[in-house]
Amino acid sequence: MNRLITGGCLWLAVQGLALAGTVTFENVRLSAAPDHTRVVFDTSAAVTPKKVFTLQNPDRLVIDVSAAKASSALTSVKASGLVTGVRAARNDQSTLRIVLELKQAANPRTFNLKPNDKHGHRLVVDLYGAEKSAAVEKNSAAVPKKKVVRKSVADKPAALRDLVIAIDAGHGGKDSGARGSRGTKEKDIVLAIARQLAELVRKEPGMRPVMIRDGDYYVGLRQRINKARKHNADLFISIHADAFHKKSARGSSVFVLSTRGASSEMGRWLANQENAADLAGGVSLDDKDDLLAEVLLDLSQSATIEASHEVAANMLGGLKRLGKTHKSTVQRAGFVVLKSPDIPSILVETAFISNPQEENKLRDKRHQKKLARAMLTGIRDYFGNNPPPGTHMVARKYKVKRGDTLSEIAAVHRVSLASLRGYNSLKSDRLRVGDTLRIPPTRGS
Ligand SMILES: [Zn+2]
Repeated sequence: MNRLITGGCLWLAVQGLALAGTVTFENVRLSAAPDHTRVVFDTSAAVTPKKVFTLQNPDRLVIDVSAAKASSALTSVKASGLVTGVRAARNDQSTLRIVLELKQAANPRTFNLKPNDKHGHRLVVDLYGAEKSAAVEKNSAAVPKKKVVRKSVADKPAALRDLVIAIDAGHGGKDSGARGSRGTKEKDIVLAIARQLAELVRKEPGMRPVMIRDGDYYVGLRQRINKARKHNADLFISIHADAFHKKSARGSSVFVLSTRGASSEMGRWLANQENAADLAGGVSLDDKDDLLAEVLLDLSQSATIEASHEVAANMLGGLKRLGKTHKSTVQRAGFVVLKSPDIPSILVETAFISNPQEENKLRDKRHQKKLARAMLTGIRDYFGNNPPPGTHMVARKYKVKRGDTLSEIAAVHRVSLASLRGYNSLKSDRLRVGDTLRIPPTRGS
């Protein structure tokens, strides 16, 4: 009896201490995976950081934790992956500030792990670099779900984030996709176009690309969705160049997900082709996953499809400027890869590889770039009108006053003249009083 009471008191005492400010960061472990670096803090109790945010020049991740202290073991860790060093200091009376020094800008994801038989409480920070590695994801199941603590908890302007554009080159590896009469493989062409698009997105202020595959390997259709979600993508674009049994079929088409049925025979036919890819890649679609997807579809997909449709219309507009499109309206079909319940997703059939003329065009680097530019225009138009809150795309606006010059406006807003010109598609530097300029987002603003 006595022992029980003592035990109880001890437990209370420990709890009390924890509340009074003795959560200790005892140790830190780093491990570098192909596409992210994991930082695991062993803590004396469960920890919810007060703030997690990134800083630039040099790149750092800052974690502020109330009522905590750090052991010296924390700062003696060796560099690994994206992390070059760890610092810790008491910021004020009660806040512990941990700073991870980074090799490059990174996207953090933070979550807690409960004690198991090997470890106690842990705070885990996964850092995803802006650059993608070519490695295939093997274990998407280990990826934490979206619910856990998100990127920047800070609510200052510094927390503005880049738009994340997930670029999915269709097929890959043993799944070559469609094939042209000259032997051109869809998987190679779409990867080349995807890379060109990524290059353009990278240069675009306030945007960041994520390549779903960046090499000649197969990625399952569900895995493609998962990877986009893991990176908190704002948009998912799947790039294809398909074949049809009629050689004369030509032009680009843009698809969004159909929950009821394809809007055309072509849509049905293509959906079969693309979805069959998973079987070709040796990965079968998981029934349970499908069931879950159906439930999610009912709950939130209609809004996402609305958004997808709008992006698709913008994209089609961009492609129309490049030449005649296959269909003048956005098409609907049941592509598995478009089934994200919460990320607007579109599939672009850039051209028909089965049409010999289009096959030649698709092989041409300059034409690939034109396609990529047309897609970027679509992305820019869409997000220009629908900037997600919290992103750099929530553009600042400036109304031109008498005596203003473009270079002055650029200087005042700390953006380059070239980016200001480009962002407003200005052909000359002459301004008219009363015109509204959109101020491009600046990194880190
Ligand atoms: Zn395809």
